[in-house]
Amino acid sequence: MGALPRGALLDDLLLSRASIDRAAHLRTDADFQQMARTDAGSLVIWVHSGAVALLSEETALQMTPASQLAADADLSFLGVSPQGAAIYAVHHASEREHVQLPDGATWVGLREVGHALDDHDAGLAVNAVALDNWRRSTRICPSCGDRLVPNQAGWSLRCTKESRDHFPRTEPAVIMLVRDPQDRALLGRQVSWQPRWFSTFAGFVEAGESAEAAVRRELFEEVGVRVDRLHYLGSQPWPFPASLMLGYHAWTSEVEVRVDQEEIAEAHWFSRVELEQACASGEILLPPAVSISRKLIERWFGAELPGKWLR
Ligand SMILES: [Zn+2]
Repeated sequence: MGALPRGALLDDLLLSRASIDRAAHLRTDADFQQMARTDAGSLVIWVHSGAVALLSEETALQMTPASQLAADADLSFLGVSPQGAAIYAVHHASEREHVQLPDGATWVGLREVGHALDDHDAGLAVNAVALDNWRRSTRICPSCGDRLVPNQAGWSLRCTKESRDHFPRTEPAVIMLVRDPQDRALLGRQVSWQPRWFSTFAGFVEAGESAEAAVRRELFEEVGVRVDRLHYLGSQPWPFPASLMLGYHAWTSEVEVRVDQEEIAEAHWFSRVELEQACASGEILLPPAVSISRKLIERWFGAELPGKWLR
């Protein structure tokens, strides 16, 4: 990390990895879609409420030939693999435990396995979970209340009454590591978290607000500090259910912290030595590597840190 130019964007965000060609122009190509859904080489991955199906005992996605699924299976087109195979996600209306998975496959939450998948599978899984969560939460037309039907190979939901497509929602959120004039980092614990869990601060961008204004507002609301300077470090999709996390380092000259007690229970400044010792002893636990918050902390720290919390 020390070799990176100062201020370079984070390039190790585990849920931002994606090597698949999304081939967006093929979503509306009816001939291609009709052919690909039954082509012997087309593959399907399984997704349900934040989880994907993995091959037993492996950290690889269960890939099932599309030709083995029912003709009316509810599929979303994820793209074309480097080998030229069309890849789909299959959605299920029934409860997860009622879905008949192929022999040996098991459901695993993307939060739990996202760090262990390779770049190809990670990109597919994040895409599939995001689309599946959107489909689950979008049943009727927000404009007229009529029923919506999948369109554009799963990338839109169409209101046939109004001849209008609705597209997947992405909700921007900001997440920031605060640094003080001694270059300590401010970490906090949310009210709902377990006693030793600490992380950076985060919040949703409000309607009509810039991301930078959201950073300043959230930090003042949650810990009472005013930010002098901001530096953007990268983004990561966080489809639980629909966020895009925009990561920052934020500098303040105000070292007195006032926690709001509504969202944040406590917040403390850590020097690098203090944080390393606290992590090594287990006195505090940081979020797992799959989160952008951990990457923001480790960018400041300059190396990987030990320990993590597990939900
Ligand atoms: Zn409508």
